[in-house]
Amino acid sequence: MDRKVGVLGGGQLGRMLAEAANRLNIKIIALDKEGAPTKQITAHPDHVTGSFKDPAAIRKLAELSDVLTIEIEHVDVEILQEIEKTTPVHPSPKSIKIIQDKYHQKEVLISHKVPVAESIALDSEKDLPRVAGEFGYPFMLKARTDAYDGRGNYVVRQLSDFAKAFAALGERKLYAERWAPFTMELAVMVIRTSNGTLAFPTVETVHENSICKLVYAPARGVSSAISQQAQDLAKKAVDCFDGKGIYAVEMFLLPDNTLLVNEIAPRPHNSGHYTIEGCYMSQYEAHLHAILDLPIPERRLRLREPSIMLNILGGKTADAHLELANQALARDGTVHLYGKGDGSLGRKMGHITVTAPTMAEAEAQVQPLIQIFDKVVS
Ligand code: ATP
Ligand code: MG
Ligand code: MG
Repeated sequence: MDRKVGVLGGGQLGRMLAEAANRLNIKIIALDKEGAPTKQITAHPDHVTGSFKDPAAIRKLAELSDVLTIEIEHVDVEILQEIEKTTPVHPSPKSIKIIQDKYHQKEVLISHKVPVAESIALDSEKDLPRVAGEFGYPFMLKARTDAYDGRGNYVVRQLSDFAKAFAALGERKLYAERWAPFTMELAVMVIRTSNGTLAFPTVETVHENSICKLVYAPARGVSSAISQQAQDLAKKAVDCFDGKGIYAVEMFLLPDNTLLVNEIAPRPHNSGHYTIEGCYMSQYEAHLHAILDLPIPERRLRLREPSIMLNILGGKTADAHLELANQALARDGTVHLYGKGDGSLGRKMGHITVTAPTMAEAEAQVQPLIQIFDKVVS
């Protein structure tokens, strides 16, 4: 293929993107710290050392690349808007800018009639009594920017939480979100290509402490009608933005079987890791194909077999998470370790995928691993 793809960020998503790129002889050039996970598996001298928020480093990356993409949305967008005049950037910097601010993202979704949880922008702690009056308890206080893995969310349960919630979320701009009494969380990976918008299957995500723990593909006990509605809604949500590539759409399934969009990520995502073993084409291959205008036959997005993804999170000691990885190696799981160095409590260090002819078999295989997961993070 002989194409050079510059990636802002060099973490695990870039690393798995590089695994897919290597097979196609596509060169991945990462902008991140020396020795970052992506750089460890792509040995060439052209990687750029620095921050994905540093304009000079981003310019240097663009000079070396045919196309730029991101594996994290918290990047310097102004400079990407300048760069896109000469080097293609996917998804578009304008989309990244909107999605970076979760409140602004919601405003755009609402303007396109995509259902989301009701939200109120906040200026200060003084606004909270009004929010509590409007939403009741509990409600979510969320940072508008730089949020990931729940580090930017605070569940407000009572009046006495106000000060704690503000202290926990710090100086960032905040907004409040009405509690969504979901029965299940669903997610769909969506691909935007030059020719249209495609969707991977609807999956079920299980979060604990606001961080993704498990993904079940397909979503368990969800009718094909709801799965289809989730795929359609996810495509509609992504169509509010421009730029080619993969997007994740997280949704809440409510007791009346209606759906709300929680948030969009404009990049490969934890809820799409299962596609590596579970589908005929992975989210990473799909992203490369989309941004390089290579074909994506829709039938390759189907599930091969029911699949479950279990995250490997850090524990109390630097290598506590390896117990889970080792146990999974001894069973029927595919283990991915990200090369992030020392683990710390709750840090994403890797993941495991189990696939089986039926979901019941996959569940039985993953059950002992969930017990080890729980022990490691407790
Ligand atoms: P990510 O790592 O996916 O980017 P994030 O830090 O941006 O996560 P959110 O997706 O906003 O965080 O929230 C994380 C989790 O918290 C959700 O998946 C859900 O379980 C819970 N949550 C978020 N918003 C609400 C809400 N309004 N009502 C109920 N639960 C919520
Ligand atoms: Mg998020
Ligand atoms: Mg989320």
